[in-house]
Amino acid sequence: SVRVRFAPSPTGNLHVGGARTALFNYLFARSKGGKLVLRIEDTDLERSTRESEAAVLQDLQWLGLDWDEGPGVGGDFGPYRQSERNALYKQYAEKLLESGQVYRCFCSSEELVKMKEIAKLKQLPPVYTGKWATASDAEVEQELEKGTPFTYRFRVPKEGSLKINDLIRGEVSWNLDTLGDFVVMRSNGQPVYNFCVTVDDATMAISHVIRAEEHLPNTLRQALIYKALEFPMPQFAHVSLILAPDRSKLSKRHGATSVGQYREMGFLPQGMVNYLALLGWGDGTENEFFTLEQLVEKFSIERVNKSGAIFDSTKLRWMNGLHLKALPSEKLTKLVGEQWKSAGILTESEGSFVDEAVELLKDGIDVVTDSDNVLLNLLSYPLHATLASPEAKPAVEDKLHEVAASLVAAYDSGEIPKALAEGQSGWQKWVKAFGKSTKRKGKSLFMPLRVLLTGKLHGPEMATSIVLISKAGSPGIVAPQAG
Ligand code: GLU
Repeated sequence: SVRVRFAPSPTGNLHVGGARTALFNYLFARSKGGKLVLRIEDTDLERSTRESEAAVLQDLQWLGLDWDEGPGVGGDFGPYRQSERNALYKQYAEKLLESGQVYRCFCSSEELVKMKEIAKLKQLPPVYTGKWATASDAEVEQELEKGTPFTYRFRVPKEGSLKINDLIRGEVSWNLDTLGDFVVMRSNGQPVYNFCVTVDDATMAISHVIRAEEHLPNTLRQALIYKALEFPMPQFAHVSLILAPDRSKLSKRHGATSVGQYREMGFLPQGMVNYLALLGWGDGTENEFFTLEQLVEKFSIERVNKSGAIFDSTKLRWMNGLHLKALPSEKLTKLVGEQWKSAGILTESEGSFVDEAVELLKDGIDVVTDSDNVLLNLLSYPLHATLASPEAKPAVEDKLHEVAASLVAAYDSGEIPKALAEGQSGWQKWVKAFGKSTKRKGKSLFMPLRVLLTGKLHGPEMATSIVLISKAGSPGIVAPQAG
């Protein structure tokens, strides 16, 4: 049965790269009817914190990526934090010592440094050349009696190669002669990371290891440990890196890179998940819009691309916009209304003004926080103030002069305010009459009206715009300064 795991190190926030790995594991598990295990890799006790663990869990939940086993839900293969599995690691380390696949190394750190320097001078790979790989039992006994600290070193075959069949990258192989006997347990009894991961994946019965490409060098060491412990090898799938637009490794200097930052900026989990899925995966058609459910249905690991994927924040915004507009309209209205209220543009987050304004403006909104500017932009043309102000009167282009003069007159006489007070139908009736009296219709009527009334050549549907603009400054709605 399919069992996969997401194994974050709780040393910071969930990065978009980690989130994509989690997503691919989730999609693989769900599409195969398998299980997703969440394992916390907190062997680095100095850098791991419970706050960070909680933050990572929160981000995964926000994205909608639930797990079947792990912190918060338990399971039959726990504990799910590496810091709680030390006894298990020790047990397997002892097993390897007994079978001779690891040996005790009593070299001091000075000796090891010296070996490295010599290897460097001779331009040789940094393989272990100390005597403990071949020391006699008596020599070992002697050091043990003296109480000399020792590490456990893995006996790497001195020649040959090792290969895996990666589900994304195809065959990957390594020559073993340059690897050198690596440490699996430190002198303080702490097992090293690669050893923990192997024991965990094996004892948690993980069938597929889907993780970032940067772990490939670890895979070599882990595969050797699998063989030594006679564990069945899982299938590996190494997902390529996420790159910045300049093709360098994506990092903080390229802007927001953590899931939490995007959440705080007002992005939707649906938009985030859809965009992350497209970083290296596609269903083979032109379609790019997918809900999480559709992704589960369509996902296949074979379609994951082995070249690096570029993180394009403009596309992420666009993608988010698609999901925002796909929300049921009450949800969208609520979200935007709350945004307007929290931004101080409105005192109420709901009502007919919000309903109409959201309907009118939603096409211009990709991320909910954009909606502030979109509304302010609309309201910032102070129709009433402009039409009423003496300075504004002559300040109209020649071509529009005639219309402008009639418009100002209609405003001053109270005709326009009266029409607007009746809402859209009142406005429409007035426009018709105005067209008749100025002998204009169609474009030659609407264009000057739009320019004079909204200050812009283009914009959303005019009747609604004008009615909404006319409400700026009324109770509950701020009247922004013309910008
Ligand atoms: N803890 C590792 C990381 O956060 C993941 C290791 C793995 O997936 O094997 O990068």
